[in-house]
Amino acid sequence: MKRALVKKLPKIELHCHLDGSIRPETLRKIAEQQAISLPASTAELTECLAAPKDCHDLNDYLQRFDLVLTCLQTEEALQLAAFDLISQAAEENIQYIEVRFAPSLHTQKGLSLPKIVTAVLTGLNQGQETFGVKSNALLCGMRHEELSAIEKIVHLAKEYKHSGVAGFDLAGNEIDFPPYTFEEILTLVEQSAIPLTLHAGECGCGKNVADAVYLGAKRIGHGIALKDTPDYFPLLRDQQTLIEMCPTSNFQTRTVTRLEDYPFQQFLDAGIKVCINTDNRTVSTTTLTDEFMKLHEWYGITYQDMELLNHNAVTGAFISEEEKQVLHDRLTTAYFEQTN
Ligand SMILES: [Zn+2]
Repeated sequence: MKRALVKKLPKIELHCHLDGSIRPETLRKIAEQQAISLPASTAELTECLAAPKDCHDLNDYLQRFDLVLTCLQTEEALQLAAFDLISQAAEENIQYIEVRFAPSLHTQKGLSLPKIVTAVLTGLNQGQETFGVKSNALLCGMRHEELSAIEKIVHLAKEYKHSGVAGFDLAGNEIDFPPYTFEEILTLVEQSAIPLTLHAGECGCGKNVADAVYLGAKRIGHGIALKDTPDYFPLLRDQQTLIEMCPTSNFQTRTVTRLEDYPFQQFLDAGIKVCINTDNRTVSTTTLTDEFMKLHEWYGITYQDMELLNHNAVTGAFISEEEKQVLHDRLTTAYFEQTN
């Protein structure tokens, strides 16, 4: 596969965090508006924002978000961050993207939850008008927070269900807060008919992935630890659960350390549906083009494989069947015309 063509071909992304994906230059603009001082040189700033080479686990990786979050506490900042992310998606021909964020992380200066969600949705819509990239937001509850605080986010997702919020997710510290901690909340999600994706198996055990499915998740963020519990493979295959794999991030968080342990091929061979994502463009210093190129280098995937992975993403997207059909058709036509 040629990088230029991979970049140009239409792609779909379902797992991308807003706060981990702001361009350093945009963050500088946001910080200047609020008189927040950042490292002077772009190189230093980029280093502060990106996961370190010797990053040793998920919690270490998550610490990289502190500086960004300090800056994302106003409506203007959130709107600009969302617009910036859509501009990046447009650069590599992403046709549809689901952007996730945790509203509770943006209340440090007193913003209300509805204002936070509205600001992000405004930025996403502006991005759509300017660049033609369709998007939806996913709201994340943070696992370490009080259950009552997370429940508020579910209600928020329900309130904004028809105005740009497509689903709910739980993110953050998975080791100390496994899926069943949130059984009641996830029942509420199901009763409210809010589509559910859950971070699971990003560290720790494969059982978390199965538990996430039992608790109603239609998609799994990362799911890597599932590789050690093949007994659960039929569950994911039969439920047609989509695993949102994020190759670069999965190595940075040390979910795997050796290429031979990365379960991409293993999942596909087991008939489990997989799609490819960046997780965090800035923290992981990557793009969706980079992620597909990595899979090409590691496994020799072809344009046909890449097309299939993108169709998988469409099938698992939290959008209507009509919208899915439009995206499927677009992929089919473009890959046929440009790769044959
Ligand atoms: Zn994630």
